[in-house]
Amino acid sequence: MNKNNLLLYLMIAGIVLGAFCGWFFGRDMHVVDWIGEIFLDLLKMLVIPLIISSMIVGISGLGDIRKVGKTGLITLIYFTATTAVAVAIGLVVVNLFQPGAGVDFSGQQVPERVVDGEPLGITDILKSFVSPNLVASMAEMQVLPLIVFSLFFGGVLTTLGEKGRPVIVFFDGVNEAVMKIVHLVMYVAPVGVFALIASKLGAAGGGELFFAELMKVGMYAMTVVLGLLLHAAVILPLVLFMMTGRNPIAYLKNASEAVTTAFSTASSSATLPVTIDCAEKKNTVSRKTALFVLPIGATVNMDGTALYESVAALFIAQMAGIHLGFGEQIVVFITATLAAIGAAGIPEAGLVTMVLVLESVGLPLEGIAMLLSIDWFLDRCRTATNVWGDSVGAAVVDTLEEKFVEGGNRP
Ligand code: ASP
Repeated sequence: MNKNNLLLYLMIAGIVLGAFCGWFFGRDMHVVDWIGEIFLDLLKMLVIPLIISSMIVGISGLGDIRKVGKTGLITLIYFTATTAVAVAIGLVVVNLFQPGAGVDFSGQQVPERVVDGEPLGITDILKSFVSPNLVASMAEMQVLPLIVFSLFFGGVLTTLGEKGRPVIVFFDGVNEAVMKIVHLVMYVAPVGVFALIASKLGAAGGGELFFAELMKVGMYAMTVVLGLLLHAAVILPLVLFMMTGRNPIAYLKNASEAVTTAFSTASSSATLPVTIDCAEKKNTVSRKTALFVLPIGATVNMDGTALYESVAALFIAQMAGIHLGFGEQIVVFITATLAAIGAAGIPEAGLVTMVLVLESVGLPLEGIAMLLSIDWFLDRCRTATNVWGDSVGAAVVDTLEEKFVEGGNRP
């Protein structure tokens, strides 16, 4: 067994053991909270320097601005197409299984974090792309404005010739150094994921309570998980195979550390360092593509979240006895896609951006209360799907880029 496999097996063992301890020892597992938090913070600590350096190195690696434009377009098409397919799968399974039919949600209140959250509209999503204060954005881990800034910065550096070169070399060095730290952090990953899973399941009251909560909305949870499985285990592997000819099982195995980290942390952003490492080092996606595609993917490409938004919205409609016709479901289709783009790569962000979907078709926000108790679990499943979607995207863009952008520029 080589060293890479060992780490993966230890991480899986960490998740299983964490689930076991959280299930049987319940709230007592909060004693390991701090271990999970340290692991999470170690990963988050790397995110800002990694995003800035990755985008700059990625952009400058792509070369002149026309190549960036073409690669950007391929990336955008992949992100939009796979997110749209995910929402469509969500709509199909939720219409098929009708998980909300007959479920009573009277007496529920709009959850506090939804009331307290800032109202989210389409213009807010657009506004979140830029920030007047980059330092504040870094402090608050708002990565979208940093991506936009770094894109411009990297793009402009490539036009400066001699003057730009040392700056690019500098950020290249920063990037390599951060990636080395990622390797060090991963040594503690098995213990970290154990602690994250054990303390979260424990905080939910242990196995029995979790199971009881799950059963209350069992059909809904099953519909979400089934939809996610369809997307992650059928659609994405098919896309990967058809577009790149790669073996999806081998690709998944190499991306597994990222997927298990996503499941444990429930954060695409915190997982980003591991996602980049797996894509570049194990799945041999070219460095420039991995560094360009994955930071953007972790922030805007969320197939799992999009699918979940559509299932949850229709679940609420079914509970409320509101029939949504074809036209209204198209509105859900569009707003669920936007809500997934607008959701930050942090735990349970999708729950809050769902307000956009619900309000677009006049559904009661109180319905969100029914989703709360098990959202921490579904969040992990959708985050793992999100990260898997990003990983597949890196390979697809890499192959298409080689064919159409590099090839296209050859004399
Ligand atoms: N936790 C998810 C992520 O980081 C976002 C969400 O769906 O809440 O990808």
